[in-house]
Amino acid sequence: MKAIIIGAGMGGMSAALALRQIGIDTEVYERVTENKPVGAAISVWSNGVKCLNYLGLEQQTAALGGIVDSMSYLDGHSGDTMCRFSLQPLIDQVGQRPYPIARADLQMMLMQAYGLEDIHFGMKMVAVQDGPGSASATFADGTTATADVVIGADGASSITREYVLGAPVTRRYAGYVNFNGLVDADDAIGPATEWTTYVGDGQRVSVMPVAGGRFYFFFDVVAPPGLPYEPGTAREVLREHFRGWAPGVQTLIDTLDPMTTNRVEIADLDPFSTWVKGRVALLGDAAHNTTPDIGQGGCSAMEDAVALQWAFRDHPGDVHTALAAYQRARVDRAADLVLRARKRCDVTHAKDPQITQQWYDELRVEDGTNVIRGIVGNIMGGPVTPVR
Ligand SMILES: Cc1cc2nc3c(=O)[nH]c(=O)nc-3n(C[C@H](O)[C@H](O)[C@H](O)COP(=O)(O)OP(=O)(O)OC[C@H]3O[C@@H](n4cnc5c(N)ncnc54)[C@H](O)[C@@H]3O)c2cc1C
Repeated sequence: MKAIIIGAGMGGMSAALALRQIGIDTEVYERVTENKPVGAAISVWSNGVKCLNYLGLEQQTAALGGIVDSMSYLDGHSGDTMCRFSLQPLIDQVGQRPYPIARADLQMMLMQAYGLEDIHFGMKMVAVQDGPGSASATFADGTTATADVVIGADGASSITREYVLGAPVTRRYAGYVNFNGLVDADDAIGPATEWTTYVGDGQRVSVMPVAGGRFYFFFDVVAPPGLPYEPGTAREVLREHFRGWAPGVQTLIDTLDPMTTNRVEIADLDPFSTWVKGRVALLGDAAHNTTPDIGQGGCSAMEDAVALQWAFRDHPGDVHTALAAYQRARVDRAADLVLRARKRCDVTHAKDPQITQQWYDELRVEDGTNVIRGIVGNIMGGPVTPVR
């Protein structure tokens, strides 16, 4: 059994490791010529960490993960603490600490675990084809690779998805722009082992620790899509948007490196339930593109990888039955996460200002119970975090 995996992002690499773990030959093709992840970091929640542990990466993941002992919400303008609580109850409930990890570190960990030299870089897939006994991918250089199965882990703008669905789909702009990057951890912004979030006016500014004494930071700015943006001007843009916000926010704006600060217009995709066409299957953002509001897009891709392995483990040699089982195992769970994120997105970004004000009021009396219940609800339900 041989599988071609298109895309060496966190979904594709997790899938390659997962399939190889059960003895399937894998070939990974990636369009970029070197490992240059887009974005600064992600929070790998406990379900994602459990998937990485399952793939044999427990120690490496723990070494790269930031330690988040507590969470706090601060009034964006005054800087007053609305609530602060320990994350330990969450860790106790789900049995695994979450880890924010710099993207470059996560990506390199996955690639090294697989073997950097075994990844075919600079190979842009331009077409995919299913056939009775095999499936194939054609690349921009004119070459073709053939295998028993092709896994399209080619991200949010997936070509494989177009093939599987028979038509292109349009992503939905979620209403805000996310600026993100890495800075040295600084108590003036937030405590070193805390996930600190400043909220106000339907916007938020957040920092959380990653390894190496750094903070992953992000700013959410409510704005129409397609605004002109000159790369390198993040500081001026953010100063303008967050004028009058708390000193910690101003320190973060002063500290960030505008040249390495990413700007992303956030979009998602309505869930769809066809992930498979013959011997071709979708995985990760290609199959379920979510807003990052509950930090589950990448975790969900890792869950796909484990589910894909289990499907082939349970139906060895039978590609069609295995892919059907994979699709069955994942479609509802992934859709649930996309819709949960969309709901959270609307509350955080004041789609209805009254509801957002109500959330701010709730945060002022929060002891952690409700927030943790919500996060546990996101974490539970995947292959390695079954709901009992
Ligand atoms: C601002 C932001 C914050 C986020 N925060 C979190 C978070 O905290 N937690 C979380 O779990 N998730 C988070 N996510 C989501 C997460 O980044 C994605 O869900 C994850 O990267 C999906 O992985 P993937 O491998 O499916 O896709 P990608 O990471 O997009 O990888 C796809 C790969 O395929 C390659 N590729 C594309 N087309 C082709 C082609 N034609 N031929 C060959 N190769 C191709 C690309 O170059 C790329 O390397 C966030 C996303 C954003 C935008």
